[in-house]
Amino acid sequence: MEDMIRMLAKAPEEERMSLMKERLQMFASMPEEQRIESIAQLVQGLSALKQKQREEFIKGRTRIIASLPEEQRVAIIAGRLKAGVKIPKDVHEADMDLTERAVPGLPEDLRRDFMQSMEQVRKSVDAAQGDKGVPSSTVPTHHGESMVLKGIFSKRYVCSVCGYAQRA
Ligand SMILES: [Zn+2]
Repeated sequence: MEDMIRMLAKAPEEERMSLMKERLQMFASMPEEQRIESIAQLVQGLSALKQKQREEFIKGRTRIIASLPEEQRVAIIAGRLKAGVKIPKDVHEADMDLTERAVPGLPEDLRRDFMQSMEQVRKSVDAAQGDKGVPSSTVPTHHGESMVLKGIFSKRYVCSVCGYAQRA
């Protein structure tokens, strides 16, 4: 996987996008366990890139996922969320953050499709966890201010004064 990522990093953008799309569609067609494992390896592999390259990759990956047929899109997003337990927490969270930052840059229709699938996956994951993923009604405070709820994938409260963040 890491060799493939290094090779793709050097490829022209168009080629990188088309190869990454093939790869993601292949992941989508795998049995679930294998899909989760492959996505975990991809996320781990991307974390070895230089920051700028990693951002570019994740931007491209987000765009491709958004443009896949719905069934594949949902399979990949669900696989990505479930892959979180197989990789180091900092790698998981940085990858999620970069994905979140890529979403607003998508064309309107792709952004809508991506967010709808994300919402659908989150609901089913929350339901499977017995609603543990739903934030409690008590908003924590920091520096005397109510913290702000942020995040699409990993919800967290952030202090608007100092930027301190904690899991919601
Ligand atoms: Zn603070």
